[in-house]
Amino acid sequence: MKKLISTNPAKDYEVIGEVAISTDEEIIEKVAEANKAKTIWKETSLKERIEFLKPIYEEFKTRANEIDLLTAKETGIALTESKANTNGHLNKIKWFLDNVESALSDEITSEDDKSIHKIIYEPIGVAAVITPWNHPFGMFVWGVIPNLLVGNTVVFKISEECPLVGKLIEEIMGNHNLPVGVFSEVYGAGDVGWKLVNEKIDLIWFTGSTKTGQQLYKLAGEKFIKAVLELGGSNPCIVFEDADIQKIISKIYIKRFKLCGQTCDALKRLIVHHSIFDEVVEKLKKEIESKKTGDPENLETDLGSLAAQRQLTLLEGQVKDAVDKGAKIITGGRSLKNVNGAYYLPTLLTNISKDMRVWNEEVFGPVLPVISFETEEDAISLANDTIYGLGSIIFTNDQKRAMRVAFKIESGTVEINNTTHWLSCNPFGGYKKSGMGREHGIIGFRELCQLKVISMDKFR
Ligand code: ADP
Repeated sequence: MKKLISTNPAKDYEVIGEVAISTDEEIIEKVAEANKAKTIWKETSLKERIEFLKPIYEEFKTRANEIDLLTAKETGIALTESKANTNGHLNKIKWFLDNVESALSDEITSEDDKSIHKIIYEPIGVAAVITPWNHPFGMFVWGVIPNLLVGNTVVFKISEECPLVGKLIEEIMGNHNLPVGVFSEVYGAGDVGWKLVNEKIDLIWFTGSTKTGQQLYKLAGEKFIKAVLELGGSNPCIVFEDADIQKIISKIYIKRFKLCGQTCDALKRLIVHHSIFDEVVEKLKKEIESKKTGDPENLETDLGSLAAQRQLTLLEGQVKDAVDKGAKIITGGRSLKNVNGAYYLPTLLTNISKDMRVWNEEVFGPVLPVISFETEEDAISLANDTIYGLGSIIFTNDQKRAMRVAFKIESGTVEINNTTHWLSCNPFGGYKKSGMGREHGIIGFRELCQLKVISMDKFR
């Protein structure tokens, strides 16, 4: 039997467990069961589906500490961040449970004395949900819970970097008598995911790299099924000269360095007006240097390790490329000395040019390139100088300018000053190569549904 070995990237890659990789036969069987279950689950009323999921939500809440610790061990994420994340994702489940009924209620489009027309939302069928490692529990919540609520059955594959979190999720999901085939998991790397999506499924829900997303989108096209894809990002943040510098530094820090810089929606390119450039860089340097990188399980730690050795190697290559091309390291720029693990110090880079990898690739780690601009047009052009279009941030005290720029930026979300877009009611997703479709909010539920129009005589 082939196994996935789970290691701790923050503790010299020590082995913390192992999980059997799903065989082709097991994948085929799970998809077949999901297909058998789809009629029962579709015909289970929405109210009943909500009732099935409520105790699952309660058990996730009571076992949140286990999720937090396992996430810290498997991914190197600081335990304090892991706790905050789990809490946020639990709130998201609550929002899903509380809002799915209104999101999917029938919608009357036209009515007169004789006839009535309405839209109803129906499940699509079997969803293959495939997730990355940066929010092991969170991505499960985002992908699996709304699919189950709208009536799709799910075969779930968590990232190969965090199979133990996957096992814990499977155990909890298995404790609540969901009908057989409504939810199941498969384990393994990309080959297992590929086998899964090539089976008889009706929908792909994927979060991960743009490269894999494009492969899945192609396959979805051939199979002629829907794919909801949330992919990479290289979010720009523009700081205009009238921004309140004191108030923005902590947000810039959090948006770039949260989860050690390993989120798709992170701020990845900082674009600062030349007149305040030095001041912003100096203040950010101070903020960064006040943070502690180290053992994720220590509650004093701000930044843990990266999730895997391969991520460290990739990041080192990106920074080396920048330095070779003339970038200046303001702080950081190296891994942590005397500790074995995938650690990298939070890093600020200036003297950035557009041929550098840190500018034109997604940087999934604690590295922030800062570039200056002269005019509003320059800033917009720099912000849009990316294949991605997930999110963006604008700091200015001029409301008209904020709206003008927000309109011209090519991204799925725009945050102006200190307001976050992260509310469960707000749809999330990207322009350009950041994805296809939206998650969360009313729109997020509807993305996972078939839309049917019923036009009928009025019955008397
Ligand atoms: P990352 O490099 O950030 O892990 P990937 O896109 O490689 O991003 O992986 C995200 C998820 O997609 C993981 O669960 C991974 O196993 C899975 N995956 C990778 N390649 C494929 C593929 N060709 N088909 C299906 N799933 C895949």
